Amino acid sequence: MNFALIGNPNCGKTTLFNQLTGSKQHVGNFPGVTVDKKEGKIRRQEDVTVVDLPGIYSLSPYTAEEIVTRDYLIKSHPDGIINIVDASNIERNLYLTLQLLDLEMPMIVALNMMDVVTANGGKIDIKGLEKKLGIPIIPISASRNQGVDDLIRRAVRMVRERQLPERRDFCSGDVHRAIHSTAHLIEEEARTHGVALKFASTKLVEGDEKMMNELEIQEAERDIIRHIVDDMEFHCGMDREAALADARYQYIEDLCSELVVKPHETRGQKRSVKIDRVLTHRIFAIPIFIGIMAFIFWITFGTVGATLSDWFSAGIDYLIGLADTGLQALQVNDALRSLLIDGVCSGVGSVLSFLPTIVLLFFLLSILEDSGYMARVAFVMDKLLRKIGLSGRSFVPMLIGFGCSVPAIMATRTLSSERDRRLTVLLVPFMSCSAKLPIYAMFTAAFFTEYRALVMISLYVFGILIGILCGFLMKKLMFAGEPVPFVMELPEYRMPAPQSVLLHMWEKAKAFMKKAFTVIFIATIVIWFLQSFDIRFNMVSDSRESMLADLGHLISPLLVPLGFGDWRAATALLTGFSAKEAVVSTFAVLLGAGNSSDLTVMLGDIFTPLTAYVFLVFCLLYTPCVAAIAAVKKELGGLRQAGGVVLFQTAVAWIAAFAVYRIGLLIL
Ligand code: GDP
Ligand code: MG
Repeated sequence: MNFALIGNPNCGKTTLFNQLTGSKQHVGNFPGVTVDKKEGKIRRQEDVTVVDLPGIYSLSPYTAEEIVTRDYLIKSHPDGIINIVDASNIERNLYLTLQLLDLEMPMIVALNMMDVVTANGGKIDIKGLEKKLGIPIIPISASRNQGVDDLIRRAVRMVRERQLPERRDFCSGDVHRAIHSTAHLIEEEARTHGVALKFASTKLVEGDEKMMNELEIQEAERDIIRHIVDDMEFHCGMDREAALADARYQYIEDLCSELVVKPHETRGQKRSVKIDRVLTHRIFAIPIFIGIMAFIFWITFGTVGATLSDWFSAGIDYLIGLADTGLQALQVNDALRSLLIDGVCSGVGSVLSFLPTIVLLFFLLSILEDSGYMARVAFVMDKLLRKIGLSGRSFVPMLIGFGCSVPAIMATRTLSSERDRRLTVLLVPFMSCSAKLPIYAMFTAAFFTEYRALVMISLYVFGILIGILCGFLMKKLMFAGEPVPFVMELPEYRMPAPQSVLLHMWEKAKAFMKKAFTVIFIATIVIWFLQSFDIRFNMVSDSRESMLADLGHLISPLLVPLGFGDWRAATALLTGFSAKEAVVSTFAVLLGAGNSSDLTVMLGDIFTPLTAYVFLVFCLLYTPCVAAIAAVKKELGGLRQAGGVVLFQTAVAWIAAFAVYRIGLLIL
């Protein structure tokens, strides 16, 4: 038995999904978080599965979310629909419910957020609503796990007994007539294509081209439908979409005036309005955002983060020291000991030592997200992004890009226009992802101890500026046209939920550790081998004679104009393709440093503070890791495009680094 969870954005679908299945999907106080569908088994009911679908306002085929949800409903034929309705916003939510009813599938409404309604003096006549809509309605509170068991029981019974919605018409007059006439006309096509007749005819009257083509309606019939619709538009004095929307809202309004006592404005809403007066202020909004981000970076990279990191790396150094003595005591073969200690331990260790910084950064960012602030930022950024030809919706992927480019590139799927999507995919990698953080941290610790936070912030800002510049140029050169308008509902401000924030942090830490022990682990072994042997596989005593050095020497001439033509820097950048953290582990292996403070000294042989900064700029901008390239390939549809992106980004990185180096030389 299979249920589809469907509802508006932010109505609590994922919360309910997690309650039902016991899984821990990301719940965001933020529309556009669930992009793809997720499937899970209901607890204690192993034969029942539910699918969490992206939030939608309507079943029209305009946005990626709508298409995913609609295709799932029409093509996968779930046994039943669980429609989640935000009871505190019931009028808007029922708009989708009415459309779902047209599908003529077993359907149950989970009336969520009942806690909010009752706490604020609202009342809903559940029995009356059931009678009017002809489907079971269960009041629940997903976040408090109230009514959820009842919901499952009723839903399962509904499917077992194949209870269909008791058919009712929600439109009357001209709209009703148009839908009926169309239904007569396309009965045959709807049956052969297995689409509910009522749904199909309503969509055709609404002017849904996708449905028209899916049903393979003949030209003659299209003509008749056109006439029917013209007639309806003439009589209603509205265009087709407006006429249908009006009919649905009319019905909902009548229904609610009879059965619903609306809750008064909650304290939370009042508070939100007040806070928004400041945080989304016409002039102050952006300075406030910059201030908040600067504060977060200052905490993460300044004293607090640095101290945590230092403690953590001291711990790691101590453990590596212990392992080394242990291996020596056991008289393990020198080459093997070198592989384990100088290769694996110092490589993986050098990356792992940045775990606290990353966890701290994501702790703070998820507080911002969960409180509802980030949704405001997307809204405020819309105006700025529009200048570079993007809509505020692109802000969500870009924001995710500060964590990792891979999910960010995948999140561009929520953008409804292909143009916005491609442009966003190109710009996301300029956002400084968390894998680059260890590189910054290593270099700032070595060269800019006093201005650590400042240097870090400058890199983040630099990435954004280059992104803006590229966006602007590309808009002029390649992506003519306007971004689609940005509509988003702003969620209420609230205290961040500890479990949500902790979950977010834990996921980040888990992903980071997984990478350290897989990709970085392998990369360090490969690097250790390449630097320990020459081309004829003789073990070398000086890595300058190794095959890695030969390889590095091939590339380093390209880097000479940037001021760091050292072969070790070249190989570090090369391994950075596997994962950006590998730049750090490669230096750790190549410089053969026993602990982090040695490493600092040794980096001084390769870089001056200026070239160190230039190197960081290059790392910031040059092409993201293999995983990100694969994601680009998947989203843009081809190897050629992905190759183009790699070349483009490396070129941008080189040019920017060169410019920074030259300007730096002039100033210093
Ligand atoms: P989705 O976008 O539909 O998947 O919604 P989410 O599951 O991400 O939830 C949106 C927000 O509503 C989150 O902040 C939840 O904590 C909150 N929420 C969900 N269910 C309830 C509920 O029953 N009562 C209250 N007060 N809040 C809820
Ligand atoms: Mg969700």
